[in-house]
Amino acid sequence: MSERIGFIGLGIMGRGMAANLLKAGFELTVWNRTATRMQDLVAQGAHAGADPADVAARSDIIITCVSDTPDVKTVILDEQGVIHGARPGALVIDCSTISPQATREIADALRAKGVFMLDAPVSGGSEGAAKGTLSIMVGGAGDQFERALPVFQAMGKTITHVGGHGAGQTVKLVNQVLVVGNCIAMCEALLFAQAGGVDLQKTYDAISQGAAGSWMFTNRAPQIIQRDWRPGFTIDLQQKDLRLVLEAADELGAPVPVTSLIFQFYRTLQAQGLGSEGNHALIKALENLAGFEIKAIR
Ligand code: NAP
Repeated sequence: MSERIGFIGLGIMGRGMAANLLKAGFELTVWNRTATRMQDLVAQGAHAGADPADVAARSDIIITCVSDTPDVKTVILDEQGVIHGARPGALVIDCSTISPQATREIADALRAKGVFMLDAPVSGGSEGAAKGTLSIMVGGAGDQFERALPVFQAMGKTITHVGGHGAGQTVKLVNQVLVVGNCIAMCEALLFAQAGGVDLQKTYDAISQGAAGSWMFTNRAPQIIQRDWRPGFTIDLQQKDLRLVLEAADELGAPVPVTSLIFQFYRTLQAQGLGSEGNHALIKALENLAGFEIKAIR
């Protein structure tokens, strides 16, 4: 019999991931702080938990997917947290993007109760969560990774065991350094093209398949050219991830000058109330410096 799954945090990512677990045939108990967000999944056959501890008491494997480090601590360690309902031998899988150091501390607290933990942050956005095509980078013990593999396979495509506790979070932050580095390069290049008076669509067509191409350029440059700021990933979450990079880099003594600069640019956009726009709206920070804008194609 397959293990019973609990799922905590039914946001943009969590609701798609949980639905895929149901589709794969797992018995599922869900909980979300805003209770109305549980309705869809309950209608699809999930049980509704009363709180995170209740979800843990009804489950063998408990998945968390909430916003930031303090939120993961709340749902796992607080008074009604997972730690108070989980039985010895249970496995907690945290799919949020949070601090690698805090991850190791949470794993230690769970281990003291005989509960296992894996950190398993994801990449692939809301689309990947809905389609079950996420990339999942996993830290923790090898036997627990093997145990969780059928669960990961229901939610993702590229599933990689990258090391011990916190290693999954570290690799996710590596991913984010590359994402924003690609993003700032794209923004600077498009603004330069605009200043040079060339047609932006023709510029895109000429170079997107060559050595300068990237996922970011292919998917987000067309959005910028249309001034379409709808988010695949919001500025607020992107800025949170860069804060995690800067904190970890400081602890490790690793220089991250480009990421530091981009972190500050995102700050300026948040200050202008743009936190819910897509991360490619980074170009607005450069437009503010330049004093001119990318022109929308109508
Ligand atoms: P989201 O749509 O903002 O959802 C956040 C979820 O966390 C909601 O269910 C929210 O509950 C819950 N939550 C937040 N603080 C909480 C607290 N203190 N106690 C209990 N529940 C709390 O975010 P998301 O996009 O799903 O992202 C979730 C995680 O995945 C984040 O760590 C994010 O960085 C990561 N991620 C996101 C993407 C993406 O493209 N969106 C891609 C990769 C990774 P309420 O419904 O009550 O607010």
